[in-house]
Amino acid sequence: MEKGKPRSVRVTVVAVVLSTFSLSCSGSLGINLFPDSKDIQLGKEIDQEIRKNGKEYPLLKDRPDVKSYVEAIGRKILGSPDITKRGIYAYQFEIIRDDSTINAFCTPGGYIYVYTGLLKFVDNEATLAGVIGHEIAHAERRHATRRMTTALGYQIVLSVLLGGNPGETEKIAGNLFTGLALLRNSRGDEEEADNHSIKYLRSTEYYPGAIRFFFEKIGGVGNRGGAFQRFLSTHPLPQDRVDNVEKQMQLSGNPQPTDANLFLSRYADFKSRLP
Ligand SMILES: [Zn+2]
Repeated sequence: MEKGKPRSVRVTVVAVVLSTFSLSCSGSLGINLFPDSKDIQLGKEIDQEIRKNGKEYPLLKDRPDVKSYVEAIGRKILGSPDITKRGIYAYQFEIIRDDSTINAFCTPGGYIYVYTGLLKFVDNEATLAGVIGHEIAHAERRHATRRMTTALGYQIVLSVLLGGNPGETEKIAGNLFTGLALLRNSRGDEEEADNHSIKYLRSTEYYPGAIRFFFEKIGGVGNRGGAFQRFLSTHPLPQDRVDNVEKQMQLSGNPQPTDANLFLSRYADFKSRLP
């Protein structure tokens, strides 16, 4: 009798862990126990790490025109009424000179990095805006600290299971979230960021669903190694996401892409000036 008791307690605890995980994976119900100041602090730390590591993150310093073009797009998105952390998060933009990486990322607290590989890969300004909107959404929706909350819950439960060995559990939680590993988003986070990109772009001059062109093109590129692999390590399956964008666009009256909301030739000009 007495032997059976702790086992049933364990089963309950494991069930709690599993339900916490499925909650966070569903995206919209995610709980975040951290204050905004944690996102701001983490962002500052990661930003400093990146600036120190010029070998892995060579910043494009001698071309302020490229940076201000990208930043101008970002500022239009940040003007959306659906943005809630304006004036709270940093929302700074930086370009990384690396043509082989088709990606962009945003730290907690809003430090946005765009690779020249992405700038050269997309075909119009609206698509770039869609990707930047997606990155801003990761900061706005506080995906990193939300996942940390889940891990912290896991740590507390784990310490119960391990009979209160704080050294061991801290090590495990520490391994879960170190530096840039924070930026690896779940599938639910990705879908939420796509949906918010569409929302933000609605108040701009851009075609709101433009992020789909990015997924379509990256899907078409196929498994061509390097850049694509790197993209997939932080972002899941393009086709699912094209389907989701299509669904979202239908829900919002299905506006169509045109020359007037994609800005093809303006973008071609910009691309021709890239180093
Ligand atoms: Zn993402």
